[in-house]
Amino acid sequence: MRQKKPTWQRELTLERIRRLFELAEESHREKTGMANRYVELAREMAMHYKAGMPKEFRTRFCRNCGAYLSAGSTSTVRTNPAKKAVVIKCNKCGNVKRFPYGKRKKSV
Ligand SMILES: [Zn+2]
Repeated sequence: MRQKKPTWQRELTLERIRRLFELAEESHREKTGMANRYVELAREMAMHYKAGMPKEFRTRFCRNCGAYLSAGSTSTVRTNPAKKAVVIKCNKCGNVKRFPYGKRKKSV
């Protein structure tokens, strides 16, 4: 029973998500404490419009606690050559996620 949303709506949603992550980055730098809120909004939007979270942003927030992840400050980024994966650790809750590289995936 899942209906696909029109393409233009998906485009618009992705545009908004992109903007929210920009704002998150800005507020993170300025330490306004709003970064996590922007991440929350972006996630809500992706869910609501079933747009999915674009790959470029999946590394930018913690799935566990919802924190905005910025390499070197709120997250630690390491590569694991043995497993061919980028390992991102959230410095807030300690959640670790892995993003495989070198493998081509058909799905988004
Ligand atoms: Zn976390």
